Amino acid sequence: MTQLDTRSVHAGRDDLTALGVHVPPIDLSTTYPLPDVERGGASYDALALGNGPDGGSLVYQRLWNPNVARFEQALAELEYCESAVAYGSGMAALSAALLATVVGGRPHVVAVRPLYGGSDHLLSTGLLGTSVSWVTPTGIADAIRPDTGLVLVETPANPTVELVDIAAAVRQANGVPVLVDNTFATPVLQQPAQHGATLVLHSATKYLGGHGDVMGGVIAANAEWTAKLRQVRALTGGLLHPLAAYELHRGLQTLPVRVRAQQSSAEKVADWLSTHPAVDNVYYPGLPECDPQGLIGRQQSGPGAVLAFTTTGGYDSAARVAASLHLITHAVSLGGVDTLIQHPAGLTHRLVDDSAKPHNNLLRLSIGLEDPDDLTNDLSQALAAT
Ligand SMILES: *Cc1c(COP(=O)(O)O)cnc(C)c1O
Repeated sequence: MTQLDTRSVHAGRDDLTALGVHVPPIDLSTTYPLPDVERGGASYDALALGNGPDGGSLVYQRLWNPNVARFEQALAELEYCESAVAYGSGMAALSAALLATVVGGRPHVVAVRPLYGGSDHLLSTGLLGTSVSWVTPTGIADAIRPDTGLVLVETPANPTVELVDIAAAVRQANGVPVLVDNTFATPVLQQPAQHGATLVLHSATKYLGGHGDVMGGVIAANAEWTAKLRQVRALTGGLLHPLAAYELHRGLQTLPVRVRAQQSSAEKVADWLSTHPAVDNVYYPGLPECDPQGLIGRQQSGPGAVLAFTTTGGYDSAARVAASLHLITHAVSLGGVDTLIQHPAGLTHRLVDDSAKPHNNLLRLSIGLEDPDDLTNDLSQALAAT
């Protein structure tokens, strides 16, 4: 296999030269001509069961779309997985994995906190028929029951960018499939399947798209799992739109360059924040005290571009910092080319149970592609206002 940077540029595009085009043609068809009833029906069966096209007809966009398939193939190659299935959002992707787990007859989920606030809320409500045991990274084994169908881990975790040892989680899961939310690290820095994860999930809305203009979600896994996940998508309809798939596929081409540049700035901003008198704690896997297990270098090749910090002046000062920035945008989401800041306890993790809610002084920063000196200048003037 070629190197990651090469795959990012070329994966999912092998047939373009033969097609006589340089970029993927966008196919917006909602329906496809059928050769005849018999062969159309056979194609329908194949696709509705989550298998690939059988050469007859693509039948209907909810069952298959070539742009979505290109993005899926490219992402699967980056994650060292057999296949991938894309959805209209990260939450639609997680929902599909949970539905497949419930249908498999083992609806109990063991989940390591912290998780993205939406994932935490979906599991806490049991909306899809799952039940959940919340654990720390070392408590997975004790929480596994005969009806446990999935172990859920996020690393780095939202919002405190704590790291979880994936291989250790897989060992504790003792055969129960482990889903790793790899949104923060991206396949550029970490490939969870290489450490034994069965399912690798991304909110493609974040780094994969990278420009804050497209929503999507994707799960990479082995062929057996992706057939189930594709069946869930075909029947429940949480589709990725072909235009969004085109954008996400294009986003992968610059992903390694963006992630490394953003990471390099994040390292500078984290160091700068660490010495600022109005900053209490900085949470960033690149700081030695935030990676006690030494997972950077072993599991994740670099610390990434998301960090969090607490202010010394309490909630009021944190809220003032968020409101006083000029260059940095006060907004939820992350992973784009522009730097964003947000207050997890008040926004993304609002619905998380009080016992597990992030600190009220905590702000989360997603570092973009701006010059890091401009970012620290903006932070400096905002911190001075506290
Ligand atoms: C944003 C996010 C999600 C949810 O993805 P959407 O695309 O917003 O539905 C899931 N996990 C993590 C880590 C996220 O940051």
